[in-house]
Parts: sequence; C-alpha cells; structure tokens
Amino acid sequence: PEPNRRQDRGIRPAGPVPTPPSAGTAPAIPFANEPDTDPALSANRAWGAQILARAPGSTLGMATIAEAMVKDEATLDRLVTAAAQAGRAWGGRPADERAALLRRAASSLASSRAELIEVAASETGKTIAEADVEVSEATDFARYYAELATDLDQVAGARFVPDSLTVVTPPWNFPLAIPAGGILAALAAGSAVVVKPAPQARRCGAVICEALWRAGVPRDLLTLVDLDETGLGKALVTHPLVSRIILTGSYDTASLFHSWRPELPLLAETSGKNAIVVTPSADLELAAADVARSAFLHAGQKCSAASLVILVGSVARSERFARQLLDAASSMRVGWPQDARTQIGPIIEPAAGKLLGALTELAPGEQWVLEPSQLDDSGRLWSPGIRTGVKPGSRAHLTEFFGPMLAIMHAETLEEAIRFQNATDYGLTAGIHSLDPEEVSIWVDGVQAGNLYVNRGITGAIVRRQPFGGWKRSSVGAGAKAGGPNYLVGLGRWEPDEGTA
Ligand code: GLU
Repeated sequence: PEPNRRQDRGIRPAGPVPTPPSAGTAPAIPFANEPDTDPALSANRAWGAQILARAPGSTLGMATIAEAMVKDEATLDRLVTAAAQAGRAWGGRPADERAALLRRAASSLASSRAELIEVAASETGKTIAEADVEVSEATDFARYYAELATDLDQVAGARFVPDSLTVVTPPWNFPLAIPAGGILAALAAGSAVVVKPAPQARRCGAVICEALWRAGVPRDLLTLVDLDETGLGKALVTHPLVSRIILTGSYDTASLFHSWRPELPLLAETSGKNAIVVTPSADLELAAADVARSAFLHAGQKCSAASLVILVGSVARSERFARQLLDAASSMRVGWPQDARTQIGPIIEPAAGKLLGALTELAPGEQWVLEPSQLDDSGRLWSPGIRTGVKPGSRAHLTEFFGPMLAIMHAETLEEAIRFQNATDYGLTAGIHSLDPEEVSIWVDGVQAGNLYVNRGITGAIVRRQPFGGWKRSSVGAGAKAGGPNYLVGLGRWEPDEGTA
C-alpha cells in the first residue's frame, strides 16, 4: 500500500495524490512539492521495514545496467549518433507534448518510491529517510520542469532552440535525485539524453531510467551507458554530437572535462566547503541541532553539508555551544541502513587519503571535541568527528573532506566570521544562526555562496522554493540553479522567431 506522506515539503492539503493524465490533452496540475514519507506513522515504518528487508540481497537494476555496458568506441558512437538524431526530432515537438511526458514521468517516479529507495540503500548505503527525500525531489523536478517547458514556448518574438544531445554524469551521493534532475531538465528543454551513472551507483541510474522508460520516455531519447571512465569517458565527452554535459561532481572532474574539450558547454555543480556562523544572539540549542544534522546526515557526503561552524564572540568563548553540539552529534546513531534506527549511514568507500587523514589526525593547536572512531572492519562506518582550535588558512578550514568531519573556528566579530566563510575556494551553501535581523542582513550582503540559509540547516534544498547552485569553484558553466526558473534556458539558445518577428 502507498504510505502516508508528511506535508512539510508542500502546501497540498492531506488527501490522495492526484494522478496526472496519461495523454497530452488534460490540463496541467498546479505545482506542489511531493511530500516525504512520515516515519512517525507506524504504517510507514512497517513499509520501510519491508524495503530494508529486501535491500541487502536486492537485484533491482542489475540486468539493465549489464545491458548498458559499453566496451568499445564503435558501440558508443552508434548509441550517441542514434540519441542525437532522436534529440533533433524531440526538439521540434511542441512544448505541451514534452510537458505531458514529464508529468507521466513524475507519476512513474512517485509510484516507484519503494523500489528506488531499495536500490539506493543496497547499493550506496543511503538510509531510508535520506533516499526517501531524493524520490520526492526527483518527482518535483519532473513536475516543475514540465511547467518550465511550457513557459519556454510563451516567449514572444523568440524561439528556444534546445541542444540536441545532453550527456548527464551524476554523482553517487544523490544517486536518484541528481540523475533524474539532469535527465528531466534536458528532456523538458527538448534534448535527448545519454546518462552515465557514477560507478558506485550504477544500479540507481538503471532504476531511474527504468522508471522513466515505463512512463513512456523512448529508449533512444534516454540512453543509459556504463563505461570505463578513463578511456571511453573521454570518447563520450569529446564526441562531436554531444552538445552539452550536465555534471554534478568534483571541481577536478569538471576541470578534466574542460581540458579534454575546452569549448564544450558544461553545466556543472561542483565541490563545496560550507560553513554555518553562530552569533551570540542565536538560539544555541536549535543551532547545535541544525549544525549536527547538516554536518553528519548521510555521513557528511553532501556537497551542501556543513563542514565548518564559525562561532562568534561570546559563543566562541563559552563552552556551552560546544557541549550542546557534542550532545547532538554523539546521540546520532551510526549504522548500516538495514537497521531502521540508523541516522548516519556508511561512507561510500573505506576511508582513505585526505578523508582518512582528517578522521585520524589533528593539526598543531587543534583538539578533538568528539574523536571519530571506526566502528567495524569495513572501513566505512565512522562515528562523527568534531575538531576545534582550527586556524584560519589551515587544511581543516579550506579542504573539502566529504565525510563525517566538522571543524569549529572562532571569530571575534561577525565580519571576521564572514571573512573566514568566504576564504574558501568554493561558495555553495552557507548558513547563519542569529536572532538579530541586522546581523542577518550584514551576513546576507557579505557572504559568497549560492544557497543561503537563516536559522535552519544548510542541506536539503527544495525544488522551486530553493533553487540549488553555487559560486566560485562550486559551479562551472552558465551558473543556472537546478530546480530554479532559469535552468532549462541553460540547455539551448534563443533565436528570433521568424513567424512573429
Ligand atoms: N541538493 C542537495 C541539498 O540541497 C545537495 C546536492 C549535492 O550534494 O550535490 O542538500
């Protein structure tokens, strides 16, 4: 049975979810965010337990990803050529037809919720709660981009000419919502898509494509490929029929793509090093809870995660905030997603390199507020770490570790806190906890980041309400924000409309 959903993502009153029309003729349903599953209801917990019971041995998506394996350049060329041809035809279809397909995609994604969560949990270790919000977000992308597709057709005197072929290269950390978002944006704009999932999340990519194919997206319009990244990855990025790449990943990957093909239009959402500032006027308990959740849910593996908290003035001088943060973090349960009590799941691979260093070593002058420990032999389960005494310009201040590691810095003034926040190369998300409107306005004017959050956590941007994207090294390309009004416009170009001009 369909579980009940909590209403806090949207404004729709309680009641059955309306089913979008299956033909292109019925009127569009006004946009509302798809609500997440409410774990407070026992029926939903039982639903989740069934998913988790299946997850360890899940084989969903395996056959599809095996079929999608590309081993040689000739096969890749054939797939890309067919996709580009399908894209040219699709770009000529009326926007209403594209929007209707997107609305069918939304209902297919929404009704595949259990299956999608099962694969995300079994393949990447995401908890039910974290995978659940991804399904809501994927569904939101489909409904929202359906509306934007129709808007593209309404511009007087200009005609939108979409790219014919978009390559989508999503990350493993949001293995459902991010591939879905890129694919759906491109389809809505009028482009064909070749999607290459992250190696750690191949089956997630497969089940997203399956849900979209079931909705009626033609196979040549949406092609799934799995390939050896070193050799064939370059062949895909440099293929002359590829008009654009939507990448979510590291800044280094974006730079690599750029070095392979400097003139290629890239729409990339890249790394982050995100901070929350806490001023003396803040509600400290609320701030501690928000910082802990932003830093440690999904084991800190969100581009949007908080990896710095900057305490201002008396908050830095007193022990109170650090103690509250310690309590909030150490009460979060670390485990495998198959245990329904888990809040912080595993990291994607055994800790190594700079993340392992961050989890095990302190720089001179730093102390542990909470020392992380490895909880089993897998190397993937780590309790959260909090270090203090972090100096401006140090590694912990400036490096993205992408794991459950939070650094505390001290600033004398709000202005100094903003300087520390802006000193990183990145500018994705940023937060402030302050109950003083003047402080908030100084901060909003001074901080360099794409998504600013006041008195709440800094992860979990919601489609349409909080378009997501950054500044500086957090974004490469046009800088349009995913889930925002300008995103589709970044996937093509405008030409004067001969008919009306
Ligand atoms: N959109 C996600 C959020 O707001 C982050 C996506 C990412 O990590 O790339 O938390």
